[in-house]
Amino acid sequence: MSTEDLIRLEEQYGAQIYHPMDVVVERAQGVWMYDVDGKKYLDCLSGYSALNQGHCHPRLVKVMNEQAKQLTLTSRAFRNDKLGPFIQRLSELSGYGKSLPMNSGAEAIETAIKLARKWAYKVKGVQRNKAEIIVAEGNFHGRTITVISASSEPLYKDMFGPHTPGFKIVPYGEADAIAAAITPNTAAVLLEPIQGEGGVIVPPHGYLQQVHSICQESNVLFMVDEIQTGLGRTGKFFACEHEDVRPEVTVIGKALGGGFYPISAVLADAEYMDVMEYGEHGSTFGGNPLACAIALEALNIIVDEGLIENAAKLGEYYQERLVEIPSPHVQEVRGRGLLIGIELKESAGGARRFGEALKDRGILVKDAHENVLRFAPPLIIDRETLDATIMPITEVFKPTLVIV
Ligand SMILES: *Cc1c(COP(=O)(O)O)cnc(C)c1O
Repeated sequence: MSTEDLIRLEEQYGAQIYHPMDVVVERAQGVWMYDVDGKKYLDCLSGYSALNQGHCHPRLVKVMNEQAKQLTLTSRAFRNDKLGPFIQRLSELSGYGKSLPMNSGAEAIETAIKLARKWAYKVKGVQRNKAEIIVAEGNFHGRTITVISASSEPLYKDMFGPHTPGFKIVPYGEADAIAAAITPNTAAVLLEPIQGEGGVIVPPHGYLQQVHSICQESNVLFMVDEIQTGLGRTGKFFACEHEDVRPEVTVIGKALGGGFYPISAVLADAEYMDVMEYGEHGSTFGGNPLACAIALEALNIIVDEGLIENAAKLGEYYQERLVEIPSPHVQEVRGRGLLIGIELKESAGGARRFGEALKDRGILVKDAHENVLRFAPPLIIDRETLDATIMPITEVFKPTLVIV
């Protein structure tokens, strides 16, 4: 089928909640994607960082195939032989005593919110139904009703009330605002270490550490959403490590499934995890053996292939190269590791048209928040491939670029 026909089918039979670029991808390998006409594109989005290991990693293809023939689902009514080894490895790598696997990012955030509330009632002694969770303006934690209730974005929430109560929204990057918002009923502070969807917003250095200290002084849990920033993306296993912060609760997702399978997890030490008791939470597919086998391999690939080190080294290099590109349109280049945002000036006319122009030159990026272009290629990328993007990006950022 032609590109046009395939797009028409999507438009006719699909919900109109996305505005994808008109490139119809048919296959992918490593950092490259190929459309139905065989045209090759460099993937600089990585499925919003779900593809840190690159597309169709051969080790994941193998594990998925083998496990698919062996055992795919038991539900947690019974045990399976893949869960234990996976969560043991996750513990080794994350430093947390325990983990609770779920399916999507939003679901893991919901789980963390339940954990914080339960902890507040059972351990902290907050009066039932009074627990509060502090979140940041511009956050993105997912799309379920409770999670959008914590959002500050009208588009995500305004038409979907009534909302879940119990959230307080404070400005991002200001530790004082968090201190001021804490009350005796505060169960947790929930933050992204870098706001990805918010436009690759990097908070001032020291923010996460200050917030953690404030939380510790006030007997409040610090919960961090590393769904996009975790698993090597920023040049550390967790972005919080850049400030030597170890939150009480960390949530991961996306790259945990290596782009093959949806899996997320809530990480915490036993002291916190064990407030959740028998029957209080669950998921039919959470922790299924297919997910666990894939996630274990996805984690091992990150370690074996030195992807964290690669993200650190190439991220710094690439940012330096991007900064050098002369352009009247660019306001700022920022980020950490291979999570990089190019913020464009108001006068540039929105990031989307630059994304479209890059698509025509074989580079796929996504605008994050109107004026920011996000560059987040798979962490397996090499220097030469990054170098080759500089010329097309330079072209697109020229003052004279006319985009139709
Ligand atoms: C993608 C994302 C989520 C939501 O994950 P889903 O799997 O889409 O539900 C939550 N938080 C952050 C920071 C994300 O980037």
